[in-house]
Amino acid sequence: MKKIKKLLVANRGEIALRIMRSAKEMGIATVAVYSEADRNALHVRFADEAVCIGPPPSSQSYLVMDKIIEAAKATQSDAIHPGYGFLSENEDFAALVKKSGLIFIGPSAESIELMGSKLAAKAAVAKFNVPLVPGTSEPISDIAKAKQIASEIGYPILIKASAGGGGKGMRIVENELQFEEQMERAVSEATSAFGDGSVFIEKYVTQPRHIEFQIFGDQHGNVVHLFERECSIQRRHQKVIEEAPSSVLTPELRKQMGEAAVNVAKAANYFNAGTVEFIVDENLNFYFLEMNTRLQVEHPVTELITGLDLVKLQIKIAEGEKLPFKQEDLSIRGHAIEVRVYAEDPANNFLPDIGTLKTYRRPQGHGIRVDDGFEQGMKIPFYYDPMIAKMTCHDETRIKAIEKTIRAIDEYEITGIETTLGFCRFVMDHEAFRTGNFDTKFVEKYFKPELLKTTGTEDEELLASVLAFSVVDGISKKSEVHNSTNSVSTSKWRKNRVQ
Ligand code: ADP
Ligand code: ADP
Ligand code: MG
Repeated sequence: MKKIKKLLVANRGEIALRIMRSAKEMGIATVAVYSEADRNALHVRFADEAVCIGPPPSSQSYLVMDKIIEAAKATQSDAIHPGYGFLSENEDFAALVKKSGLIFIGPSAESIELMGSKLAAKAAVAKFNVPLVPGTSEPISDIAKAKQIASEIGYPILIKASAGGGGKGMRIVENELQFEEQMERAVSEATSAFGDGSVFIEKYVTQPRHIEFQIFGDQHGNVVHLFERECSIQRRHQKVIEEAPSSVLTPELRKQMGEAAVNVAKAANYFNAGTVEFIVDENLNFYFLEMNTRLQVEHPVTELITGLDLVKLQIKIAEGEKLPFKQEDLSIRGHAIEVRVYAEDPANNFLPDIGTLKTYRRPQGHGIRVDDGFEQGMKIPFYYDPMIAKMTCHDETRIKAIEKTIRAIDEYEITGIETTLGFCRFVMDHEAFRTGNFDTKFVEKYFKPELLKTTGTEDEELLASVLAFSVVDGISKKSEVHNSTNSVSTSKWRKNRVQ
């Protein structure tokens, strides 16, 4: 067993800060790496030491393995935490860290490689009797044969990239006529995003829920699960709101899915933190989707219902410690909901809306946790993921957690850019969400940007008169008008409770 004394975090933003905070509490010194765009970022200021690793594009900084290893050596770090995204699921990086005599805070390179291929992962877990979505087990090479399989499975089907991630390289095919066109698109998207054009077919589950299990393994063969997270509220196949526990799992189903998740981990000789994703149909049949071999964006909901610090646990396991608990020691306490605050415009197809955080005030109070990497006045760089913050609320019951989330969203003040907060407020107020009767189609089914708008609320009228006053006074500059416009749009969702 080797105690870690200095940890380099190969990431940026909220997750870099979140990791460093836990390290600091454990008495571990921290090293930040940063690109030129992040020179003044909070993770750089928080760390004990910081090393610049290159120009803003991540391909020249956060994704360059050699620069990160060099920074670790120069600072005499003994371990590297990759966070999520960037190099976190890159088996070559995990292997290089180990080869350089450093500890990688994550699973083995072999586990990452196996689970990085959705096809290889399915083949491995099938041996452990984990249920799979009906589909092909090999990359498509013969179109005629693939079409035949598709009609046997029954349309709609999904063409998916084996190397896929982040919702990319996925195409729905409604009928045979669309097959070739959609397949070509999936292959070209997969080739450009992942450098691997292998695609396969899966039955398209039409009203699915996305439910995933947090698992943890140590290097001594013990594996447990830390219950599930419901992640069905998505846009572009990407999560925006997550909660734990899921309102549809019975204790029996939770036990069955939890056991399947542990088996998936065992199929990969897995250690450290991982997530086993399942898709669940209307009849509550569940199927393995994929395993994410890293700390997940939405891990705070699990932390709040279990009381555990997953990063501290990751560090101890990387040091060689055994899991400090058994499955039967774990239980669910209360309910947690996370909303992701993205710099995106829900009224414009959730496209990124990058700019400066003119006003930025976090909500406070009992059971509210905000993980962010920004302060008022900072710019959201357009080079990276446009997530500003994750806000997670914890309370005794689901409905109390929903009410708390609404209160906290209303307290959150962000102006200067559009965010997903108003959309999240819409979800919290929606009957389908409140009753737990929803699936991954929530956005398509219920969301229309017009629903975020209100007519003539007090705030807007007040603002309108202030604006008119400024213009009359001749002091309205372009930036003021712009900011005021954004203030108006921030207040749109505030007064609009959809019953
Ligand atoms: P999670 O289930 O943890 O939300 P995501 O699939 O949303 O996982 O990915 C987490 C983060 O990792 C994303 O916000 C994105 O920045 C990054 N990411 C995921 N897949 C890719 C990819 N293929 N290329 C680049 N970044 C990715
Ligand atoms: P990624 O690697 O991009 O995260 P996943 O396989 O985890 O890819 O799928 C991402 C999302 O796409 C899921 O959460 C779900 O909403 C949707 N999805 C994936 N597979 C299916 C399927 N077979 N049927 C219906 N929806 C699916
Ligand atoms: Mg996924």
